[in-house]
Amino acid sequence: MRLTVVGCAGLFPGPSSAASSYLVECPGSVPDRPQRLLVDLGSGALGPLQRIVSPAELDAVLLSNLDPDHCADLSTLYVMLRYAPSGPVRIPIWGPAGTLSRLVDLTGLESPEEIRSVFEIFEWAAESPVTVGTLTITPYRVNHQGDSFGLRITDDSSVLAYTGDTSICPALLALADRADLLLAAATLPERRAGLRGSHLTGGLAGTVAANASARRLILTHLPVWTDSQHVLAAAAGSYRGPLEIAQPGRTYEL
Ligand SMILES: [Zn+2]
Repeated sequence: MRLTVVGCAGLFPGPSSAASSYLVECPGSVPDRPQRLLVDLGSGALGPLQRIVSPAELDAVLLSNLDPDHCADLSTLYVMLRYAPSGPVRIPIWGPAGTLSRLVDLTGLESPEEIRSVFEIFEWAAESPVTVGTLTITPYRVNHQGDSFGLRITDDSSVLAYTGDTSICPALLALADRADLLLAAATLPERRAGLRGSHLTGGLAGTVAANASARRLILTHLPVWTDSQHVLAAAAGSYRGPLEIAQPGRTYEL
């Protein structure tokens, strides 16, 4: 399995990164190319995605939550797929409850049927695995506003765990249990670690990685005003394994 960071900015796009979007690829059931899942398509992510892959060749889009920094560019993906010169392309989307109505709002279209002409929409059920080709995705409900999920993606040999947006919650341990790579959204500054919030800090992400015995930790979803070295140092205080801050365009082999 291979993970490529399309965008990793938290809350909104920054000058050097789109908001959340991650491409997951692995050999599998599709002839002549890898299987391709896109995890989130946040604001600004459709542009850099095209530097990596043709969006028409995505096998599915997986949404962790319906905040703009995770799904806003589905409105631009809709236009791209609907009006493709070679004819409309239809791809499946898995997301939280309300994904269809969210897409109606984002696109400004009046009819859900117009959305369904491009996106085949399915809703997560907590801890009910979904299969796409040879990949299995298990959604874990996490602690964030609305219906929000962390995603555990597995193939025959490796496990990728993505926290999505969440504060510390028991589901994170199952989500990240012995994962080969834990992609953790560390959005809050450490000074807010003790407050009730809807995001992790670097230190909390490190604690989750250590307690779950994750083999590698990538910190992501930092807002532009965050000191990344401070986040990294906080995570290193509780996690002793390989650790880094996500960078747009970077690829990680699992
Ligand atoms: Zn977010």
